[in-house]
Amino acid sequence: MSDKPKIAVHKFSSCDGCQLAILNLGEKLIELTEIVDIMHFAEAGPVNPHEKVDVAFVEGSITTPHELDRIQEVRSNSQYVVTIGACATSGGLQALRNFKHVDIKQWTQSVYAKPEFISTLETSTAIAKHIKVDLEIWGCPINSKQIIETIRALCFGVEPVVQKDSLCLECKRQGNACVMVTKQEPCLGPITQSGCGALCPSVGRGCYGCYGPDENPNTKALAKRFSGLGLLPNDIARKLHFINSQAKGYLEIGNELGNKTLKDDAK
Ligand code: SF4
Ligand code: SF4
Ligand code: SF4
Repeated sequence: MSDKPKIAVHKFSSCDGCQLAILNLGEKLIELTEIVDIMHFAEAGPVNPHEKVDVAFVEGSITTPHELDRIQEVRSNSQYVVTIGACATSGGLQALRNFKHVDIKQWTQSVYAKPEFISTLETSTAIAKHIKVDLEIWGCPINSKQIIETIRALCFGVEPVVQKDSLCLECKRQGNACVMVTKQEPCLGPITQSGCGALCPSVGRGCYGCYGPDENPNTKALAKRFSGLGLLPNDIARKLHFINSQAKGYLEIGNELGNKTLKDDAK
């Protein structure tokens, strides 16, 4: 890393919510510019997409032919690539198109007034399917504190770590009453990684897995628990196949219960 590292924030197919989470750092973002130079971050102002940088943060998934080329350029221009958010780490909500039964042409026609102007791939895939990724920060959106921690670690020559223990641990540390025990509400917390501060259980609702699977998800056991709460196999599959449908740990059991298969180019 250079004395004053250069960073970039690149956008691929996404809703921009993870970039907004960085912008929401407010004054901390201004303080950050004392230790790093922000070379490219279109949503914040600087636009230099071809600049060589020490760390590139990448938001969004690969869903267009142009993005297939652009991500290779980002990799060759960056010492470290860090993917941010569910779109970049697992393909995001838009990866629901990856299932075999989905006709993407039909979806495009039903959404856009002029579908002939839309150039899109059949699938939405995570950045790590296309290039080597050095670190993945999950969430929809991410917790911006993880960006600061990552930059700080890299500046001090320390390998950044993303905690991948179960959300239940974080939930218990917050002192929440478990929604599955007290309200019989399905919650993906036992198989989802921590990092969000157990936001949903803190306001009395079940987690829907936006931070993706934890390090050792026992999805089969949780599916059995959900079944005990009265959910049908298809309902359980829908819970697993949501924001992080393509993530290992959610995908397989969801496929089994929902009787789904992926298009070949999504595998
Ligand atoms: S992960 Fe969620 S918040 Fe972030 S860009 Fe994708 S859809 Fe938006
Ligand atoms: S509410 Fe969800 S995350 Fe919290 S302890 Fe219960 S199952 Fe775990
Ligand atoms: S509790 Fe679950 S769904 Fe809610 S923000 Fe955290 S990881 Fe996402």
